[in-house]
Amino acid sequence: MPTPRLYFVDLQTQYQNLKPEIDAAIGRICARGDFVLGEDVKLLEQEFAAFCRVPHCVTVANGTEALHLALLACGVGPGDEVIAPTHTFIASIIAIHETGARPVLVDCDPRYYTLDPVATARAITPRTKALMPVHLYGQPADMDPILDLANQHKLFVVEDACQAHGAEYKGRRCGSIGDIAAFSFYPGKNLGAYGDGGAITTARSDLAEKVWLLRNYGQRVKYEHTCKGFNSRLDTIQAAILRIKLRHLESWNDARRHAAGQYDRLLAGLRLGLPALAPYAKHVYHLYVVQTDDRKKLQGALDDATISHGIHYPIPVHLQPAFADLGYQPGSFPVTEALAPRLVSLPMFPELTQAQIQRVVEACRAVA
Ligand SMILES: *Cc1c(COP(=O)(O)O)cnc(C)c1O
Repeated sequence: MPTPRLYFVDLQTQYQNLKPEIDAAIGRICARGDFVLGEDVKLLEQEFAAFCRVPHCVTVANGTEALHLALLACGVGPGDEVIAPTHTFIASIIAIHETGARPVLVDCDPRYYTLDPVATARAITPRTKALMPVHLYGQPADMDPILDLANQHKLFVVEDACQAHGAEYKGRRCGSIGDIAAFSFYPGKNLGAYGDGGAITTARSDLAEKVWLLRNYGQRVKYEHTCKGFNSRLDTIQAAILRIKLRHLESWNDARRHAAGQYDRLLAGLRLGLPALAPYAKHVYHLYVVQTDDRKKLQGALDDATISHGIHYPIPVHLQPAFADLGYQPGSFPVTEALAPRLVSLPMFPELTQAQIQRVVEACRAVA
């Protein structure tokens, strides 16, 4: 019998472990009928705010909308510039574009892959309105120099925490550091719904209030519209599922750190660049990303062993056809461009077993 495929993220195992609780919660909401902005939405917002150690959480339809509405709450719009990394998932940049502002891209730090603060400083102009550090792969961006720049130039800091539920920077939770932060509850994220979902967190009640209005047609009272809003709400069923999963998130993040530690130990000495842990970081390993000189060969070995893997991300934002209008060229961001062809993401999820880790290591060892 062939070895079963090792998934990149195994959501089935997690569901089987939680099935009775989740099925009951879904049944309860169907019976009750509060499908939109129901009781579980409010409770999740309280519980996720507590988890992030921040006063306010407002849930929305997905992570991209969380970023979009967070930027709008900060007053970002046409004529403004928002600085963000080119080494990120495209949604960070789409959210900036949606506001009418111009995304100004910068390179990343070669060790930690997050927004380079020195390059960020150089990119600031009189039009800059906000900085968007991305806590990429589950490791926080270096926030102190970014907060300093924001203070000096009176800029908003919008954290893209879509990969960083529970990560910490110098003991502070991602989502509690900038003016406002965006989370995604896409199924594969560290805290994932069974469909799309997202949230903003903030210490500022004025920004929380603005997002709260924007997500629900701009209405405070039914049919009374204070601003031009959107329909961007989290389903009650998804909120109920997320509440059940949130109780496990701390231990799931511990399990990810444990798996990453095993990979670190067992892959050491091979011709692979392993993820570097920043001294300020508590990492939550949304992804475990290695560097290789010969990606085709490593991918071939993983494929032969029926091990699923990913590439995050193969084409930097500034070289995507969709953003050709920003006018960047090959060579604009050398660190990111050098990384892009070298990266491979190995299977990473909390339920990863020692035997599965061993299997990935064997496949890597055969070629690296
Ligand atoms: C997932 C993700 C998003 C977008 O979240 P969606 O819920 O998929 O809209 C934004 N930024 C980063 C870095 C992400 O990983």
